[in-house]
Amino acid sequence: MKVYLDNAATTKLDEQVLKAMMPYLTDIYGNASSMHSFGREAGKAVDESRAKVASILNCKPSEIYFTSGGTESDNWAIKGAALAQSKRGRHIITSKIEHPAMLATCEELSKKGYEISYLDVDENGIVSLEQLKKTIRNDTILISVMFANNEIGSVQPIAEIGKIAHEHGVIFHTDAVQAASSIRIDVNEMNIDMLSMSAHKFHGPKGVGLLYVRSGIRIGKLIVGGHQERENRAGTTNTAGIVGLAAALEKTVREMDENNKKIKRLRDYLIDRVLTEIPHSKLNGGRENRLVNNANFSFDFVEGESILMQLDLKGIAVSSGSACSSGSLEPSHVVLAIGRPIEEAHSSIRFSLGPDNTKEEIDYTVEALKETIERLRSWSPLFNAEKGEGEYV
Ligand SMILES: *Cc1c(COP(=O)(O)O)cnc(C)c1O
Repeated sequence: MKVYLDNAATTKLDEQVLKAMMPYLTDIYGNASSMHSFGREAGKAVDESRAKVASILNCKPSEIYFTSGGTESDNWAIKGAALAQSKRGRHIITSKIEHPAMLATCEELSKKGYEISYLDVDENGIVSLEQLKKTIRNDTILISVMFANNEIGSVQPIAEIGKIAHEHGVIFHTDAVQAASSIRIDVNEMNIDMLSMSAHKFHGPKGVGLLYVRSGIRIGKLIVGGHQERENRAGTTNTAGIVGLAAALEKTVREMDENNKKIKRLRDYLIDRVLTEIPHSKLNGGRENRLVNNANFSFDFVEGESILMQLDLKGIAVSSGSACSSGSLEPSHVVLAIGRPIEEAHSSIRFSLGPDNTKEEIDYTVEALKETIERLRSWSPLFNAEKGEGEYV
């Protein structure tokens, strides 16, 4: 059996989305910036996609910039805003559990004379609004807190964070890459000034995303060259990708309630079975304010990477830490931030479900997981010492 439980890393391209994209990969190949009929036809599809996305997010089409994905959008938002605001101040507030796209960008800025404050999170992976208020200073120019975490699925009080930012005249950006597949986002209601999204996290194509920027906010340019994206993001327009992003977002929102209900039921079933049937297992993050498709566990006395590889042999795809940091032996910065000890941060495993998963797949996965953990623990001197059955070697 092949079981895909790594939808937080990427999702399968939806067939209807591919169908919507196909003409722009074949017959309608004009450059969307060209003035002839070939170009105009492509340009029209891009305009329509922009309008579609804007209506879903409740903003103006002119506030949407298409990018190459979540990483680029995060980089642009933070670097762009930091540079444009640098005369006002050089203090930025973010959280300890951001995606590497955000953390690496902040790291770069800190080397260029910006000061970054990293908010703590509680055991459920949620930031404190009180700490946020205390951290804002006169020279704070930007607050960036991710909408939902990619490892443990914790969902932040985004509207409240945005409200606090605005009360202090500070720009608020959120990385909504993980949230977009299961949460309806209204940038006005939620007090969001800038927002990053990526199509491949909601059954769209890879290599295309967007950055929403509220009109009036200056963020400068990240990529210069031609006139695309109102001269703010140069490079020949990715027509098929953009059409795919809009089609995928539209379908995601249309089917969201139904899919969320189904996915949450399966996810809860997975959590309940794991916690009751596997000794020394812990859920990382709380059960409230959590993405419906995410379950993240630590299993004492075993390494996450070993579990991942054993499950892979049985055809089951999961993730340890985040995909971007796997391959390294760094413990998860997110699991550490919720207060788990370093061994548990090493043993964390993420299951992220999608609309195609079935109960049979979850049953197969739980059985495989039980067997895997039992076997790995039987090899573990630490586990045997804990049970008093072996020598500590
Ligand atoms: C996947 C992801 C990104 C990166 O998006 P890409 O389109 O793959 O560059 C950024 N932030 C979060 C929270 C993500 O899950």
